[in-house]
Amino acid sequence: MKLEIKELLKFPGSEEVFEFNENWDYLETGQGIVKFASSVSFSGKVTNIGNSVLAKGDVTTRVTLKCNRCLKLFEHDVAVDYLEEFCTPDEEENEDCIAYDGEVIDFRPSVAENLILVLPMKWLCNVECHGICSQCGQDLNEIRCDCREEKVDPRMQALQKFFEEKE
Ligand SMILES: [Zn+2]
Ligand SMILES: [Zn+2]
Repeated sequence: MKLEIKELLKFPGSEEVFEFNENWDYLETGQGIVKFASSVSFSGKVTNIGNSVLAKGDVTTRVTLKCNRCLKLFEHDVAVDYLEEFCTPDEEENEDCIAYDGEVIDFRPSVAENLILVLPMKWLCNVECHGICSQCGQDLNEIRCDCREEKVDPRMQALQKFFEEKE
């Protein structure tokens, strides 16, 4: 996902459109490795705005997530409204600006970051997923098992943990 911007840098106000379609293997997120179920498409426009280059576009792809409840894999469409500013390394005081080297912008790291940011907080194959039984491991979406359900109030659990840590 590299774009040469040599020509663009010559004239403030000039624009250039771009389009990428790449196959990526995976993303490393705080919730684990996420594999791609389709290629990553990124199309948009770069604009020379004087001291920096503005990149605006759309990223779309499909990833494979593991359900937090039943642990099954499912596919999830991801779309990002991408908007980033790029500037030369000596402009780095500007914190909102991504530094680029030479006359090439490498979009990959920022596109990956943007994709991670739009992943859901909870990964659920279905909002109504029943998950698996914590005792026998049965997938409760298929059949219900006979285990006695011990519902622990999460607030009580937190309190219990608090006291355990204090001891
Ligand atoms: Zn599930
Ligand atoms: Zn069970």
